[in-house]
Amino acid sequence: METVLKVKDVSKRYKNNRGVRDVSLELAAGDIFGLIGPNGAGKTTLLKMIAGLLRPDGGTVELFGRPAEERFEQAMSQVGCVIEAAGVYPNLSACDQLRQAARFYPNVARSRIDRVLEQVGLYAYRKEKAGGYSLGMKQRLALAGALLHEPKLVILDEPANGLDMEGMAELREAIRRLAAEDGVAFLLSSHLVNDLGTIATRIGIMSEGSMIRTELVQAELWGPMSLEHYALAQIREDREKSCHE
Ligand code: ATP
Repeated sequence: METVLKVKDVSKRYKNNRGVRDVSLELAAGDIFGLIGPNGAGKTTLLKMIAGLLRPDGGTVELFGRPAEERFEQAMSQVGCVIEAAGVYPNLSACDQLRQAARFYPNVARSRIDRVLEQVGLYAYRKEKAGGYSLGMKQRLALAGALLHEPKLVILDEPANGLDMEGMAELREAIRRLAAEDGVAFLLSSHLVNDLGTIATRIGIMSEGSMIRTELVQAELWGPMSLEHYALAQIREDREKSCHE
């Protein structure tokens, strides 16, 4: 399988000494990598460095087999991301926002806009101004924007935030389908750990800026425990170990 993303020993230290320390991970086409960890563990910081929104202090990020900073725009034209601010314009309809977004990329067919709106379940609301959308609908619109240019890698920070049950089920289904049928690789963070465990092919557990485990998802990994319990046990064990060092 083609390696889509290779992160090696990436670090970022903020002025308050917090951040991310020596994190490595790899994603192949069709992988769904779920990033989990407590508040402040460093998930968003890591995703921002991969998406080119934050410059790492050290380490390397390779996208599609090349250093990310080499031909950055070309590499990013194959990446879709939603990190923190969803970038939704309240005075524009979903259709108009996606038309604007499509101008940033060459060759986005008009039919593609309808397609992604269907994929995220917003087609029926496409002509309404986004200012009147619920949080979950805004989240869906941001996701549509990230999928518009048929990226090979999609990075989503807390994509389930604000989604209702149906929205979550549709999101899971869309991610599964895109990964299995089109080989799209996904890097997701979520606090809905058990939910992430149902779609991720691999998980990474972060704690206090470090990636303490990366594991292939398989039922025997956490046995009779839920993934949430398993991850918590790993995080506690890691904290105890660092207390004794
Ligand atoms: P959450 O689950 O709460 O979103 P997270 O795992 O995404 O957390 P980050 O937002 O990456 O964590 O933050 C990692 C650490 O870096 C935290 O301790 C946070 O306080 C710190 N941090 C993040 N952004 C900044 C910043 N701009 N300036 C200073 N410290 C920051």
